[in-house]
Amino acid sequence: MAIWMPASLAFSPTSLTSRLPLSSFDFSLNAENGLNGLEEKKRVMVLGGDGFCGWPTSLYLSDRGHDVMIVDNLSRRKIDLDLGCDSLTPIASPETRVQAWKEVSGKEIQFHNVDVAKEYDLLVQLIKDFQPDSIVHFAEQRAAPYSMKTSKTKRYTVDNNVGGSNNLCCAVIDAEIDAHIVHLGTMGVYGYGTSGGEIPEGYIDVILPGGRESNILHPAYPGSVYHATKCLDALLWQFYQKNDQLRITDLHQGIVWGTNTPQTVLDERLVNRFDYDGDYGTVLNRFLMQGAMGVPLTVYGTGGQTRGFIHISDTARCIEIAINNPPAKGDRVEIFNQIAETRRVRDIAEMVAKLTGVEANFIPNPRQEAAENELDVSNRKFCNLGLDPITLDTGLFDEVTEIVKKYKHRCDPKKILPASFWNKKRAEECATLDPNSIELKDKEAVEP
Ligand code: NAD
Repeated sequence: MAIWMPASLAFSPTSLTSRLPLSSFDFSLNAENGLNGLEEKKRVMVLGGDGFCGWPTSLYLSDRGHDVMIVDNLSRRKIDLDLGCDSLTPIASPETRVQAWKEVSGKEIQFHNVDVAKEYDLLVQLIKDFQPDSIVHFAEQRAAPYSMKTSKTKRYTVDNNVGGSNNLCCAVIDAEIDAHIVHLGTMGVYGYGTSGGEIPEGYIDVILPGGRESNILHPAYPGSVYHATKCLDALLWQFYQKNDQLRITDLHQGIVWGTNTPQTVLDERLVNRFDYDGDYGTVLNRFLMQGAMGVPLTVYGTGGQTRGFIHISDTARCIEIAINNPPAKGDRVEIFNQIAETRRVRDIAEMVAKLTGVEANFIPNPRQEAAENELDVSNRKFCNLGLDPITLDTGLFDEVTEIVKKYKHRCDPKKILPASFWNKKRAEECATLDPNSIELKDKEAVEP
C-alpha cells in the first residue's frame, strides 16, 4: 500500500508509530508501536469518536496500546444529510471503520451508537460496564456557523452541548468511578478581541477592588452560540470539580487543519472526514480545498482575524498527553491551550494563494466579529509535557491537496460560500453572495 507522510509527522517526538517513515512502514503491530514498559495502558472512552477529531484520536490511542470505546450518535452525519452536504472524503460506516481497523491492526475498538445528551441511562451503563480511566469528550455540535443558522440550530447546539456535558458529569458520579474527563473546548472561549497581552492557560491573575490579588477563570467572551456553549461547559466543569471532586481537563483547542494521520492512511476505509462547506469547513482546510479546486479563496471581511491553529495529528497527541497527566482528586480543573501557533487569516490566504496560483476573494463577513484582532496565546503546558507542535508548513499542505484532488468529484461548489449569518445586518451585507456563482476550474475532473 502506498502511504504518503510528511517528514515532520514521520519524526514526531511523541508518537512512536509516527516516528517511523510510513512510506516504508510495514504495519505489523510490533512492540515498538505501542506503550513502552513505563507507560500505563488506559481504558479510554471517546465520546464523539466518529468525528473529524475523534476518529483519528481513537485510532491513535488504540495504536498506542490503549483500550478504546467509541460512543457517538452519528448526529454529524445526520446534519450532513439535512444540509445536503457530505464529507469530501467518502467516510465508511462506523461498523466498517472499526472492522477495517481490526483487520489492519489486530486491535478492537468498540462502537456504541448512543446520544450523550439524551440517552442518559445508556451512558451510565456504558461507563459502569467499561470502567474507563479516562473519558474524552468530543461529542458536541462544533460549528459556529451552524450554531448561528436559525433558532432551531441555536437551541439544538445549546441543548446538545450543555446537556451532554452535564449528563457526562452526572453519569460519572452515578457510575461511582473516578474517571478523568478530558473535554475539547475552544480558543474561542477567550474571545477574539485584542486582549493586550498573552492569553494564559485558563486562569488569569487579577487585582480585585481593594487591591486583593486573585487567580480566576479567564473571563468568557463567546462570539457565537457554539462558543457560548463551551463557556457554559467551563462553568459546569468548575462546579462539578468543586462539588464532587471530579477530575477534569479542559482543552482550549485552536482550529484544526489537515485530514489524515499515520493511522487513517493505513486503509481507505479508515479515511478521516473532510468538511469543505461554508458551515463546517474550517478556515485553512477550506482555503486548501479551494486552492486545489481552482476556486478563489473565500476570505471573510479584511481577513484581519487572528486565530490559533493545530494539526490533526497533534490533536491526537495532545489528548494522550492530557490523559497521562490528569489532575489529582480535589485539584481545580486543569486547562491547557491546545494550539501550535497563531496566524492572521489573510496571511494564510496569501500562503495558499502563492502555492496554488488562485486568487484570494475578499467577501463580506457573515460573522459579527472584530475586523482585525491580535492573538498572543500561551501553549507552554503542552510544550513542557513534550509536545513539539507541527506548525504551518506548505510541505504539509500537500497532504490536504492530494486528498482534495483525489475526491474532487465529490465537491458541490454550491456549498462553498457562507450559508449562515450572525444577524440580520450581516445577512444583508452578504446578500450579494450567490452560491451558484462558484465554478470549478477543472470541470472535466468533476463527475456530473
Ligand atoms: P465533529 O462534528 O466532526 O465530531 C463531533 C462528533 O460528536 C460527531 O461524530 C457527532 O456525531 C458526535 N456527537 C455530537 N453530539 C453528540 C451526542 N449528543 N451524543 C453522541 N455523539 C454526539 O467535530 P470535531 O471537529 O471532531 O470536533 C470535536 C470536538 O473538538 C468538538 O467538541 C469541538 O468543539 C472541538 N474543537 C474542534 C475544532 C476543529 O477545528 N474541528 C477546534 C476546536 C475545538
